[in-house]
Amino acid sequence: MPEAAVHVGSGKVRELYELDDDRLLLVASDRISTFDVVLPTEIPDKGRVLTGLSGFWFTRTSGLVANHLLALRADGRSTECRRLEMLPIECVVRGYLTGSGWKDYQATGAVCGHVLAEGLRDSDRLPEPIFTPATKALEGHDENIDRDRAAELVGRERLDEVEETAIALYRFASEHAAERGILIADTKFEFGLDSEGSLVLGDEAFTPDSSRFWPADEYEAGRTQPSFDKQFVRDYCESLGWDKTDPGPELPREVVAGTRARYV
Ligand code: ATP
Ligand code: MG
Repeated sequence: MPEAAVHVGSGKVRELYELDDDRLLLVASDRISTFDVVLPTEIPDKGRVLTGLSGFWFTRTSGLVANHLLALRADGRSTECRRLEMLPIECVVRGYLTGSGWKDYQATGAVCGHVLAEGLRDSDRLPEPIFTPATKALEGHDENIDRDRAAELVGRERLDEVEETAIALYRFASEHAAERGILIADTKFEFGLDSEGSLVLGDEAFTPDSSRFWPADEYEAGRTQPSFDKQFVRDYCESLGWDKTDPGPELPREVVAGTRARYV
């Protein structure tokens, strides 16, 4: 770490350092979390994969919305970025119905206030991508919320701007990926405000930690999909009957290797 950088925080995956009043250094570790619990086993090179992918997408989407990227460092896992005032919501866009969206739909027929057609199956493609915000839980699991609740947290106008921006980003990246045989089922963004109060995309973008990536040639609605993301680890952890509270299980060598291969 640079001598001058002061450690200002730790996320589940990233260490945050202050470079100066306006800039942070985000260092992506090889830690992996499932069900919001950091596992005791690391996935070699995962932090570099997340950093490289985010850099790729920040560069390509800067015409859609400003982002926090200033520079990537030679270690491949450190991002110099603009320090933002982060909005207190997770901005999720779903093009396909799965995960917590599928669970909510099965229970209520709706996801975050979007009432969907009847009879949809797990992993069905939605007619249009939907914006499904969640709270940023300081501890425990994020909770899906509807527009009214999200508007209470960030303001109605800001929410409209965030929704439009998030959907535009999703459409752009999912088209790019689809041409290369990958479906982006859903993705999560974190936005913040700069010192002028303008909306800026922060955190990470279209990584396997923030998104579900499905190989298009194996896609088949009505079941869970093979995926290039955390699902492999989640499935392993669930197969143990783990209660999803800290501490999480150690991962065996094959699961580490299989996860690393998917991320890479
Ligand atoms: P948490 O911090 O709640 O544990 P997390 O586990 O997802 O969430 P990490 O991804 O490990 O966190 O760390 C990134 C942290 O840095 C997040 O809290 C994110 O909101 C914050 N962050 C990302 N980009 C910026 C930015 N440009 N300015 C300020 N904070 C940022
Ligand atoms: Mg994060």
